[in-house]
Amino acid sequence: MSGKVYLIGAGPGDPGLLTLRGKEILELADVVVYDRLVSPAILGMCNPKAKMVDVGKMPTHHKVKQSEINKLLVQFAGEYPQGVVARLKGGDPFVFGRGGEEALELVDAGVEFEIVPGITSAISVPAYAGIPVSHRGIATSFHIITGHEKSDLSLDFDALAKCPGTLIFLMGIANMDLIAKRLIECGKDPKTPLAFIEKGTTPYQRTVMATLETAGETIVRDNVTAPAITIMGGVVELGKTLAWKKNLPLSGKRLVVTRAAKQASGITARLMALGAEVIETPMIETRSLDIRNWADLANYDLLAFTSTNGVESFFKQLLASGRDIRELAGKKIASVGKITEKKLLEYGIRCDYVPEDHTGEGLGKLLAEKCSVGELNDSRILLLQGNLADDTLMKLLPKATRWVVYETTPVAELPDWKREAIESANAVVFASSSAVENFVKLNARVNSLAFCIGRMTEASAKKAGFETMTSDETTMDSLVKKVAEYYVAGENA
Ligand code: SAH
Repeated sequence: MSGKVYLIGAGPGDPGLLTLRGKEILELADVVVYDRLVSPAILGMCNPKAKMVDVGKMPTHHKVKQSEINKLLVQFAGEYPQGVVARLKGGDPFVFGRGGEEALELVDAGVEFEIVPGITSAISVPAYAGIPVSHRGIATSFHIITGHEKSDLSLDFDALAKCPGTLIFLMGIANMDLIAKRLIECGKDPKTPLAFIEKGTTPYQRTVMATLETAGETIVRDNVTAPAITIMGGVVELGKTLAWKKNLPLSGKRLVVTRAAKQASGITARLMALGAEVIETPMIETRSLDIRNWADLANYDLLAFTSTNGVESFFKQLLASGRDIRELAGKKIASVGKITEKKLLEYGIRCDYVPEDHTGEGLGKLLAEKCSVGELNDSRILLLQGNLADDTLMKLLPKATRWVVYETTPVAELPDWKREAIESANAVVFASSSAVENFVKLNARVNSLAFCIGRMTEASAKKAGFETMTSDETTMDSLVKKVAEYYVAGENA
């Protein structure tokens, strides 16, 4: 029995353009063999336990040869019997992706495989530049051509020059001067509009317009670099009206967010909405802990939750123990704040008590007050918390009982792909001192700018040698605002 290989198209760059099927496989993968153009956000979706193999670049900066990649896939299928080997390629695996060659090798070796198509850059990158590849009355066909071949080789310039459809060249920047000249020689109108679209669909996307006759000089003058596609034809003009992707305050900025995965999504989404590329690098991981004294649950009248992790761990263990929410019948429920309250609602539970100020102290005071008026009895209060929770609540409710339902530990390792992504980031975002300390311990090389939430975090970051920018308030909103302000202010943009 050998494992199954999935040739998966990662799409052109924007992680939102990966298919659902592709994501599903990546989450299960035992091995991921990936190319250079695959975005870190997509690598971040892979099963965290998967072996990650970069064939776009070796330590010596040489690409792994195609024949070696083919062999590697067969080898991994053998090493992971019944396993999932994901071969992740930019765009679509069968559009100039050499996916066909890999599949042939798998057939030869008798390895089972599946093709998961991806959105090819050939049509999606123009779409992100507002250029439809076909348009009624302008182009009734479009043609995707490799520009990689030397110009005297297999391209039929006569036919291409006569072709009235849109011409889309992949991999062609280095040869485009020659390609354009040959097309003109063969009779294509030198005034044919043309666009180069660099790093399309990513936060670094750039469109440069030219005509067939100015193609070569434009590439040099505007320093057009790979990966870029070249699109030629009347449809290019539509891009002037339809270009919809806005240049946002954080476009072209790569930021590292060090919050724990679950909490990161809020700030990540906000920074991405401002145009940034975000590398989520949590500094801590949480693990739910076994609860052995379930029988004691009957002794409590009120359960108090102080985090969404606590809620998730508690219910996970409750179900794992063979019980369900009926165990909570008749009990009062308290939550530290709105987010935890919302999480409880997902489990079908409404809260009886939520303090106004959303802090442990607020919750403790509220419950203590209810105890003093006899509404509650503090010896029958159960606090469900993590191993790092401080004793604020226990001090305010001395007779309550505390169960540690989850554990938080510092992340001890960084995968290579993440280390590399971090190296080229513009800045790191820290939401706690412990995140700074752990980041330093992980020895990640990084640009020395840190955005910090709160003065304590700022002090730790300064101590660690970072240049710091600190949010005015200790909220994520304020931090996001700070980041945007910093980059909008001219000299840093
Ligand atoms: N299988 C891929 C193409 C692989 S060839 C696909 O279907 O998209 C690599 C070429 O694709 C690059 O040289 C470039 O021309 C193009 N390309 C891939 N991603 C791109 C992007 N985000 N922006 C511009 N061009 C891109």
